[in-house]
Amino acid sequence: MAKYVFVTGGVLSGLGKGIITASIGLLLKSMGYSVTAIKIDPYVNVDAGTMNPYMHGEVFVTDDGGETDLDLGHYERFLDVNLSRDHNITTGKVYMEVITRERRGDYLGQTVQIIPHVTDEIKQKIRDVARKTSADVVLVEVGGTVGDIEGLPFLEAARQMRLEEGSANALFVHVVLVPKLSTTGEFKTKPAQHSFQELRRIGIQPDVIVARSESPLAPSVVGKLALFGNVGMDEVVNSYDVDPVYDVPIVLREQGLDRILARKLFLEYRTPDLGKWIEFVEKYGSASKTVNVAMVGKYTALHDSYLSIVEALKHAGAHLGVRPRLVWVESTDVERGRVDVESVVGSVDGAVVLPGFGSRGVEGKIAVIRALREAEKPVLGICYGLQLMVVEFARNVLGLEKANTTEVDPSTPHPVVDLLEIQKSVVVKGGSMRLGALPIKIAAGTLAYRIYGADLVYERHRHRYHINPHYLDKFESSGYVVSGESPEGYPEIMELSNHRFYFGTQAHPEFKSRPLRPSPVFVEFVKSLI
Ligand code: GLN
Repeated sequence: MAKYVFVTGGVLSGLGKGIITASIGLLLKSMGYSVTAIKIDPYVNVDAGTMNPYMHGEVFVTDDGGETDLDLGHYERFLDVNLSRDHNITTGKVYMEVITRERRGDYLGQTVQIIPHVTDEIKQKIRDVARKTSADVVLVEVGGTVGDIEGLPFLEAARQMRLEEGSANALFVHVVLVPKLSTTGEFKTKPAQHSFQELRRIGIQPDVIVARSESPLAPSVVGKLALFGNVGMDEVVNSYDVDPVYDVPIVLREQGLDRILARKLFLEYRTPDLGKWIEFVEKYGSASKTVNVAMVGKYTALHDSYLSIVEALKHAGAHLGVRPRLVWVESTDVERGRVDVESVVGSVDGAVVLPGFGSRGVEGKIAVIRALREAEKPVLGICYGLQLMVVEFARNVLGLEKANTTEVDPSTPHPVVDLLEIQKSVVVKGGSMRLGALPIKIAAGTLAYRIYGADLVYERHRHRYHINPHYLDKFESSGYVVSGESPEGYPEIMELSNHRFYFGTQAHPEFKSRPLRPSPVFVEFVKSLI
């Protein structure tokens, strides 16, 4: 029978609850327990796929093609597991199920209500994950902040689960922010106190409190949190800001969170085996050489929009003993003439051309790609990045005037990137892209083959457009070759054969990168920058 750890948040969102949840998971896993994690997002969207990354950051894609919240990325990276779409529960998914049932007549004669029908559906979805994964411990992170109207049914379901599973099998961890007043330098617990009250109002008493703060808290502050949170002093742990976030489990362990978790969940305590993890964090911290990487995209104002790519660069960097320093290049600013492209390109060791959608910033990206190619800098293009590298090459090397992707210019004379055949009949936007882990055949004797060392690999995808095979002869005769293709014959990876690293992939290798198992694509890219 699974045990459940519910993680709630107080004061404000964006506290790093996902990292705390993943860290709790890592501590339990390194004690020898099997762990899985669920993220609850109380918004009405069925999944994150239809949201702008400015709102919630990156859309994380799972093997089975789920378009999920970025916290699933944290769980996968910390726990080194592959999750599925079922690990992200939203209000949209829950209501869709309940309303479909109501129409089918499953509740015939009843008044369908939030309690019990909606809460039952939430509990069902959580227990389904427990059953399917047979994990010893299921972590359930409730997104948003305690007190939000839309989060209430989920917290009510969690409260009921504690009652049904018993207090030895369900634990509540409440994560709060303890802000510091810049005027006096004092840490204030009042907002946290209000969030404890808010939790109690709906019948939840936390077992453990995790206090987030910018620097370590004094025992007097911890004492206040314990008093108002109604827990023991040793049941408050302090997660102060650290870099990288992979240090968080180590910080929490130093404060005894591993023992608290084992004690409260009635699990046998075993000393966590964190050796390799600590080694990774130390290697990251001790990297002395820095490499400068331009990050070329249009959602650069919110760095979380490209979270998995940033993390994959860190994994590769730690592996190679270098530290990637990111130089964000906002492609819309390039178009407005606010960026000196030549000097940016001159100042970096290489660039990642980031994924994206739509026409905003596209010409800016193409201008940067051209400068990078002409300066012979290493370039890694991901999805839209690859597609725009192809457009740039078509225009400036092959002389195909006004070549474009039909996503930007539906009437271009040279549609070098075009809508996938199967996408032409798609009208519904949600969950309808080419999604999830799909096979890529790798051509022998190419950089792609050196990277992967295999004939067939699986990487995760999320796109509607694809390189148009019709133009391939022209590209290949100019040295821009296809080194990976889909079983249907669509180009998946393209590389410049006379270049040390000019490599674009239709897939998103960043989603499979893990601290201890970095993506080989990112390792080779970072290596080319040294
Ligand atoms: N907009 C492009 C497409 O749909 C690229 C998507 C992406 O970068 N993830 O094919």
